[in-house]
Amino acid sequence: MAEKDLKEIEVVEAEAKPAKKTTRKKATKKVEEEKKPAKKATKKVAEKEEKPVKKSAKKTIDQVEEKPAKKQTKKAVKKTEAVKKTEEEKKPARKPRKTKVEEPKEEVVIEVVEPKEEPVIEQTMEEPVIEEAVVQEVVEEVQSDLPQPRRSVAFIASECFPFVKTGGLGDVMYALPKALVQLNCDVRVLIPNYRCIPYKYKERMVYRGSFHMDLCSDGRSFYVGIMEYIWDGVVYDFIDNEEFFGQGNPYTSIVGDIPKFCYFAKASLAALNYMNWTPDVIHCHDWQAALVPVFLKTMFAPTPVGRAKTILTVHNLRFQGIYNVPTIQYWTNLPYHVFHTGGLKQGNNDANMLKGGLTFADVVTTVSTTYAQEIQTQEYGELLDGHLRYHSNKLVGIVNGIDIDIWNPATDEYLASPYDLSNVVSQKVGNKMALQEELGLDHDHSKFVLGLVSRLTDQKGLDLVNAILPQIMDDFTQVVILGTGDKVYEDSFRKFENDYKGNVSASIMYDEGRSHKIYGGVDALLVPSRFEPCGLTQLIAMRYGTIPVVRETGGLKDTVEPYNENTNQGNGFTFDRYDASLLLDAINRAKSLYFNNRWCWDEMVQRDMAKDVSWENSAKQYRQLYVDITK
Ligand code: ADP
Repeated sequence: MAEKDLKEIEVVEAEAKPAKKTTRKKATKKVEEEKKPAKKATKKVAEKEEKPVKKSAKKTIDQVEEKPAKKQTKKAVKKTEAVKKTEEEKKPARKPRKTKVEEPKEEVVIEVVEPKEEPVIEQTMEEPVIEEAVVQEVVEEVQSDLPQPRRSVAFIASECFPFVKTGGLGDVMYALPKALVQLNCDVRVLIPNYRCIPYKYKERMVYRGSFHMDLCSDGRSFYVGIMEYIWDGVVYDFIDNEEFFGQGNPYTSIVGDIPKFCYFAKASLAALNYMNWTPDVIHCHDWQAALVPVFLKTMFAPTPVGRAKTILTVHNLRFQGIYNVPTIQYWTNLPYHVFHTGGLKQGNNDANMLKGGLTFADVVTTVSTTYAQEIQTQEYGELLDGHLRYHSNKLVGIVNGIDIDIWNPATDEYLASPYDLSNVVSQKVGNKMALQEELGLDHDHSKFVLGLVSRLTDQKGLDLVNAILPQIMDDFTQVVILGTGDKVYEDSFRKFENDYKGNVSASIMYDEGRSHKIYGGVDALLVPSRFEPCGLTQLIAMRYGTIPVVRETGGLKDTVEPYNENTNQGNGFTFDRYDASLLLDAINRAKSLYFNNRWCWDEMVQRDMAKDVSWENSAKQYRQLYVDITK
C-alpha cells in the first residue's frame, strides 16, 4: 500500500477518537454550554415519546411492550392494539364498539376495540393472559404489515425544513425521511448546525459527542460536534462547527461555501463512524453533499462506513460547486487520481464537486423522469450532459411529492377560511378576500387572481412574466407575487406594483406564512420556468385547489396534465416552448375558462385537490432503490 494511502487511513482512524484537546475552543465551549439545556430537552422528548404508551397502560400490555419495540413509539402503539385485539378474540363474543384515539404527536389514528357492556374487562386486563408464543406471533404479524426488508439510510444535505429552508430541497429533506420511516426505514438526517437555525430547535438538541478531524492537505484539523434531535421517528444530527456554520445564512459566497461543504461532506462520514452507525445506504443531495461518495470510495473505504452504498440526488443541476483544483485539493486532501477528467476535473483547471459525486455514487437520481432525460441533452445539461450520458445506466428519475400534513388547506392555520374538497367552491373565496385585505389590493372577490411564489432567478421564467404582465392586467385581473432573488426581478415587480396600484402586489421577501395564504387565496399559480427539476409550488397549488399555469418542462411536465376542453380533463394550463406569447396564451385560456365556464373550472379545482401529490408513491420507489442496491 502506498505511503499516502496509509496516511489517509491514519487520518480516518484519528477521526473516530473523541476530541481530547480543543483547538477550536470557542466551538467546544459552545457545545458544552449546550449540554445543560440539552439534558432537559432529552427529558422532554423522552416524555413525549412515552405518552402513547401511557394511554394504553394496562399491565398486560406494558409487559408485552417491554420486550420487542424499544424505540419506535408508533410501532409500540400498533403492537398494543394488536395485543388488545388478540385478547378480545379470546373472550366470548360481544358487540365491539369502535373508538378513535388520536395520538397527537405521531398523528396516527388507532382503532381500539373496546368491550361495550361487560364490566369484567378491567379484571381480565390485569391478568397476564398472553403467552410468549402468542406475543411473538402478534409482533411478527404487526411487523409483517411493514414492507420488508428494513433498511437504514443516512440523508446528507445542506438544508432541511423546518430548521433551515431556502427552497424545495429543504421541503424534500423534511418530507421524504418522514415518509420512509413509515416504510420500515431507519433514517438519520445530517445537516450543518447553522447559526440561523431557530433557538426553539437548538434548545431541543442533545450533545452527542465531538472529535477533531484532519481535513486539509497541510494537516489542518477541525472540530466536529454532533448535536442530535429526534422527531417524528427521524434522527437529526447537526454537524457543529462555529467556523464554518457560524454565519447567518447557509450559503454565502462560493469562496466561503467551497471549504464549508468540503468540510461538511467529510465530517458527516466521520460522524457516522464516530456514532458507530453504519447505514445500508447514504443518500446525499446536491453539490453541497456531492463529495460524500468521493470520500467514501477513497479515504473512508477501509472504515466501517465504507461498506454503505451511495445515492446522489440532483435537485438542481445548475449548482455544481466548481472551483480551481488546488483549492479543492487543499480543502479535501483527496488523492490526486480523483482529479482527472472522468472524476472531479472540469476543463483545464477546475474541480467540480457535483461531477465527482456523479462519478463515484452507486446510483444517481433526479427529481422527475423528464428532468432525468433533459439533463442528458446539451440544452439542459449545464455542461455535464456528456458526463451524464456516460453514466446514464445509473441515472433514475423519481418525482417529488409534498408533505400533505403541512400542506393541508383543511387544517392550515395561516388560512382565514380553511376548506377541503367538499366545500372548496364556497370557502376558498374567503381566503381570496383575506389576501386582498392583507396585501392592500382592491376588494373584489370576482377578480381572477394570479399568484407567483418563487425564488426570483432566471431559472423561473420571470423574463417571460415581465414581458407579458402589462398585457394581462385588465379590470378583472390581479397579480400577487412573493419572492426574493435577483435585483432585476425584485425591481421590476416593485415597479409593476406601483404601476398597477391595488391590483398588483409584490412581496419581496421570504415568508412561509404568506406563501400559504397565497396558495389558499389565489385562483391560479404561475410556474413558467425555463427549466424545473421537479417544482413543488405547482404540487402545493393543486393540493390547495389552485390551478397551475406551467411550462412543460421537467417535473412540471410530469405532474400537470394539460387541460383539454374537449374532454374536460386535466389539471392546469400549459405551454411548451420558452416563449412569452405562449405564456400569455396559457394565461388567457385560464382566464377564459374561469370567466366563461366556471362549472368546468370548479371541476378542475376539485380534480386537482383530489390528485395524489403526497410522498407515498415516490417514497416507495426510493425504498425499492435502497433494497435493490443493497441486495
Ligand atoms: P426551488 O427549489 O427551485 O426554489 P421548488 O418549487 O422546488 O423551487 O420549491 C420552492 C419552495 O420554496 C416551495 O415550498 C415554496 O413555497 C417555497 N418558497 C419559494 N419562495 C418563497 C418565498 N419567497 N417565501 C416563502 N416560501 C417560498
